[in-house]
Amino acid sequence: MQELADGIHVVYGDEEPLSSNVYVLEGKNAVWLVDSGLNPDRVVSFLSKPVAGVLFTHGHFDHVLGALEAQWPGLMHAGDLRVLEDLNADYADTPKPDFFKPFSGNVLGFDDFALELFHTPGHTPGSVCFLEKNSGILFSGDTKFSHGGVGRTDLWGGNSSALDESLSLLERLDYRLLAPGHGDVQ
Ligand SMILES: [Zn+2]
Repeated sequence: MQELADGIHVVYGDEEPLSSNVYVLEGKNAVWLVDSGLNPDRVVSFLSKPVAGVLFTHGHFDHVLGALEAQWPGLMHAGDLRVLEDLNADYADTPKPDFFKPFSGNVLGFDDFALELFHTPGHTPGSVCFLEKNSGILFSGDTKFSHGGVGRTDLWGGNSSALDESLSLLERLDYRLLAPGHGDVQ
């Protein structure tokens, strides 16, 4: 686990089997995660506080299966929550659990963290990015990667013109660190 800012760490994901990066936001009594990766035990081994919930950048299996297994409550954009099974039909069984809920509003705050949510469709219909205001970290999911990479749009629900618009939106944001769903933080 690597520290990115005060109270914010990354647990890097794997390529085989494919698992997303997991970001840990440590509050006073509990942690929030950005995405859950595949393996909840691996994430928990780094934590000294319980998981209060998961903020999902989107609904792909490599970001959500860990939370499904651990039954962590999660918040996901309604655009992906509605079609969770379709999104993952080619990869893994992802039932829609009652402990996943849609976001309500675009500002999320807990303990000392203040996140603004941006709907950035293209990779999936309900992809979002979160900007943590105090640290200037942008959690960009599979919409934008480090070293100039961008999300693929050839999977179910992908849309390349929507992705282009989402990437232009991100260009206009003022952030210090890009924290993507896979690969390096930059
Ligand atoms: Zn994805």
